[in-house]
Amino acid sequence: MKTRLLALGDVPPRLAEAVLAGLPRPYTGGEVGRLEIALGRCYDRTRAQVDAACLIEQIPEPGPGWLLLGLTGVDLFMPALTYVFGISHLGGRRGIVSWFRLHPEETGPSAQTILIRRITTEVVHELGHSLGLVHCVVPECAMHRSLWPEGVDLKHPEYCPACLETLTSSL
Ligand SMILES: [Zn+2]
Ligand SMILES: [Zn+2]
Repeated sequence: MKTRLLALGDVPPRLAEAVLAGLPRPYTGGEVGRLEIALGRCYDRTRAQVDAACLIEQIPEPGPGWLLLGLTGVDLFMPALTYVFGISHLGGRRGIVSWFRLHPEETGPSAQTILIRRITTEVVHELGHSLGLVHCVVPECAMHRSLWPEGVDLKHPEYCPACLETLTSSL
């Protein structure tokens, strides 16, 4: 299963490449691309945030054997939640991850390492949903649900054995 990471607007140099390189099994590489999106259509002026469910509809249907995941720096929300790190169509092979809420409080060289690890972990999470995985109770599994950025650090950017088994048997 190959992954196409789509920059939605400006993405810092080499960020998408670093995330792609860090994807675990069963992902087998892919490519980085770019998608022009109409952000204004999904912008909620009252909340000053972007509607995640609206934005994901701008991600096209992926071709056979591919997953499509949009990377964005805008602040995403869903109606019942203050913010979300990402969204995906369950089993639909497409999703979105935002790094807006994932910036670490630290500064300096380690900050970039932490940020890329968090983004990669949430990309693995949304890709899992996009292939039909649901949330997992194992704390370090990428499919565990995280509500805070520090919670993302408790997870690994890969699946627990049970989730990996579910995933590989469905591919
Ligand atoms: Zn989730
Ligand atoms: Zn799991």
